[in-house]
Amino acid sequence: MIFRVTMFFLAQLLGGVPGWLLGGWPGALAGSVIGAAAVFIGDSLRGQSFIRWATDPDTSAPPVQRGLWGEAAYRTRRALRLEQQKAQNSTQRLEEFVEAIQASPNGVVLLDPEGRIEWCNEIAAQHFGFDAERDKLQHIGNLVRQPVFAAYYAGKSFERDVKLIGSADSPTHPVKLSVQLHPYGEGHKLLLSRDITALAQAEAMRRDFVANVSHEIRTPLTVLAGFVETMQSLPLSEAERESYLSLMAVQSERMQTLVNDLLTLSQLEGSPLPGAGEMLDLGTLMGQCEAEARGLSLLLHPLDERPQALHFGPAPDFMLAGSLSELRSAASNLINNAVRYTPGGGRIDVRWSRLADGKVQLAIIDTGPGIAPEHLPRLAERFYRIDRSRSRESGGTGLGLAIAKHVAQRHGGELQITSKLGKGSCFALVFPAQRVRNKSLVVPQ
Ligand code: ADP
Repeated sequence: MIFRVTMFFLAQLLGGVPGWLLGGWPGALAGSVIGAAAVFIGDSLRGQSFIRWATDPDTSAPPVQRGLWGEAAYRTRRALRLEQQKAQNSTQRLEEFVEAIQASPNGVVLLDPEGRIEWCNEIAAQHFGFDAERDKLQHIGNLVRQPVFAAYYAGKSFERDVKLIGSADSPTHPVKLSVQLHPYGEGHKLLLSRDITALAQAEAMRRDFVANVSHEIRTPLTVLAGFVETMQSLPLSEAERESYLSLMAVQSERMQTLVNDLLTLSQLEGSPLPGAGEMLDLGTLMGQCEAEARGLSLLLHPLDERPQALHFGPAPDFMLAGSLSELRSAASNLINNAVRYTPGGGRIDVRWSRLADGKVQLAIIDTGPGIAPEHLPRLAERFYRIDRSRSRESGGTGLGLAIAKHVAQRHGGELQITSKLGKGSCFALVFPAQRVRNKSLVVPQ
């Protein structure tokens, strides 16, 4: 400021002194007026170029660098730079925020107070079949047309979610969504959608499982209760009592088998995966399975009938890393199934073999009734049975194949089923090469 005032007087002095020399006092007055006018005009011009620059300021060097206008330009430029930096930061934060919402596994849709789509992420677009760009400003009601959603939207009570069918739903691949609206701001709404297909399937499976178990237990229980009541209320001969008691024993054995299988399954689900440390001698394991199978075969096909031909292959020259109890359970379920479903006179072959890619398999091949192809994909599901009464008659629980499949998967392998209706079936437990050791390489402990 002092500089400006000094410059103003200096300009007057510079004009006044030559004016005084040339024309005395009137010349001095005219000279100082000219000096003041020169300062004023110069200042106005600088001010004008500052205003021109400030009308549409950029961060390049301003036209005025010095003096008051230079200072004003410098401060304006600094404020401008700060603003630009802030805007850049906000844009970057907004982009990160949008990226985070895009990465969310849930669908997110922002609705304006009229219910029009302001923005949605890609998952929401997939869930509802939107086009994230094209459908902007479309009313949500025009795009999600399920009546249950229309009622939910109109009801204006959004404390709970609503279950909808996803746009990609098909009879083979059902898609279920949980959708909830959350009001925010002034009349805006946030619509969140979550894919609950797996959850719904798990819930349906749980319901089916409980219903199946209850049904399986209720049947023998009803029979048992009936016998107990009869024995309590009727005078029975010794022979009748004996016969009733043996029928009751069959029913209680059936319940016991079912509970044992259920326990096996729950243990398989709850216990840690079998390690690769314990090497199993498959010869011993197969010996136990063979004894059990021959006993069952005799029981189901007494000597007066045509016997089944059971052929067990030689003990393999390799050992397998895994859990003995699990493998015994899987193998005996498959072998016993072959014995149970193959009629008298049929043949059952059980053998271990190496496959070309280093894997090994235990194959159980029978000449039984075979299985129609439409049953094969679901055969290893819990309680899935082709012929319920046949399964029950021979002491089946409907859990044997589920157990075998589970055991194979826990060992990194799989249960393969091939069958021809009327010809027979082959059930094979296939194990990965990493679990196999040559017998000669295993150091006895
Ligand atoms: P189950 O206790 O009823 O035998 P599984 O889970 O062991 O239950 O088997 C499921 C169904 O698969 C059986 O009910 C039967 O219909 C069919 N099945 C299993 N093994 C054989 C086989 N070797 N031959 C023909 N059908 C079989």
